[in-house]
Amino acid sequence: MAHIVIIGAGSGGLSAAYEMDELARPGDRITVVSDAADLRFAEASPWSPTKGADRVEFSVAEQLQRKGIAFTAAGARRVHPAQNRIELGDGEFLDYDFLMITTGPKVAFDNIEGLGPNGYTQSRCHVEHTVLASEAWERFIANPGPIVVGAVQGASCFGAAYESAFAMDADLRRRGVRDRAPMTFVTAEPFIGHLGLGGMEDSRTMLESAMREKNIGWIANASVTRVEPDRMHVTELGTDGAPDKQHVLSFNYSMMVPAFRGIDAVSGIEGLVSPRGFIIIDEFQRNPRYPNIYAAGVAVASAAAARAPADTAKTGYMVESTTTAAVNNIREQIDNREPTHKASWNQVCLASLGGSGLSFVALPHAQPGDGSWFSDGKWTYLARCTSCDAGC
Ligand SMILES: Cc1cc2nc3c(=O)[nH]c(=O)nc-3n(C[C@H](O)[C@H](O)[C@H](O)COP(=O)(O)OP(=O)(O)OC[C@H]3O[C@@H](n4cnc5c(N)ncnc54)[C@H](O)[C@@H]3O)c2cc1C
Repeated sequence: MAHIVIIGAGSGGLSAAYEMDELARPGDRITVVSDAADLRFAEASPWSPTKGADRVEFSVAEQLQRKGIAFTAAGARRVHPAQNRIELGDGEFLDYDFLMITTGPKVAFDNIEGLGPNGYTQSRCHVEHTVLASEAWERFIANPGPIVVGAVQGASCFGAAYESAFAMDADLRRRGVRDRAPMTFVTAEPFIGHLGLGGMEDSRTMLESAMREKNIGWIANASVTRVEPDRMHVTELGTDGAPDKQHVLSFNYSMMVPAFRGIDAVSGIEGLVSPRGFIIIDEFQRNPRYPNIYAAGVAVASAAAARAPADTAKTGYMVESTTTAAVNNIREQIDNREPTHKASWNQVCLASLGGSGLSFVALPHAQPGDGSWFSDGKWTYLARCTSCDAGC
């Protein structure tokens, strides 16, 4: 009988656990290793500073145990792929026959001096950060001033930056202090609406127009060099990538999406991870060096993403598609067959713009092709809220 261990209990890990449960043979065991007892719903966190962090978190341990899936919140301290075992955060070891890694990203604030919750900017990439961001937001509302919001160089999650900007704008208007909080959007994207994908159809025009309408200024092709307690140093690059203009932007509140890298538990493992710590996979979500290890979601070093101008964000749709392929391939391998399942790698994204919304489908995701489309309207906002149950 096989023991399948899944590390990470986010969008990918939970999908993997439930789908593997359907596919496993009687007697196969499934264990989920998380570093928290709760599901942390990253997708809803752009709203949390204005809505409350408690709305993006709920207990997951009980749900898994009800399905007979073993669970530990001890976290993975180190993966030992040559021994087929994981060292847990509590010092215990867990052996596996098949390993699925769905640990999402680690945020890389240390790339830029003064960036992140230990510095001077807020983040919404983890629930702990959103609690701090919410508290800082309330202090800011009592004493409004300039806002700098966006995504730094190396970031791969641009939708969250736009959503944060529009969520802040909506909340400031609701509270009647928008006129006291000039906003600047700073992004490493070469142009507004690029989204790490090269842009789609009218994405540039539509997002620029939405930002003009909300009176949000922007600096694109930006590289943040340093952050001080109340100001951000930004170099605007020319089209040739050389420094063009220097900006020093004062702020009373700043939220910047950082770059991502892989988690410490796999960092530096030869053959398993890329230089940035993401899991190397083949077209079947399987690691070539350790063929009983699979990965899905943001944790993977995707070949398609590497070809894009900026590493591209993964959407929930893509996470589910890669997860489905991986668990089906694990079942095939259990049956001594070669894996055959491939993920679609298409992106489907709904973004809330604080009352309206934008949606896009990228087919394929890195340099979107003929099947791509981009649209806007209130329906997107409503669909986004319904699917997340956190934004309305
Ligand atoms: C702010 C923000 C907003 C986003 N908005 C959207 C959106 O609207 N729609 C969308 O589709 N996508 C969105 N994304 C992208 C989103 O992160 C992915 O779609 C999805 O959450 C990725 O799923 P995942 O399973 O790969 O990672 P995650 O959902 O991040 O899950 C990773 C899990 O691994 C756990 N973990 C980490 N390290 C360890 C360890 N050492 N041991 C055990 N467990 C560990 C984490 O606690 C977490 O539960 C957003 C991302 C961010 C950061």
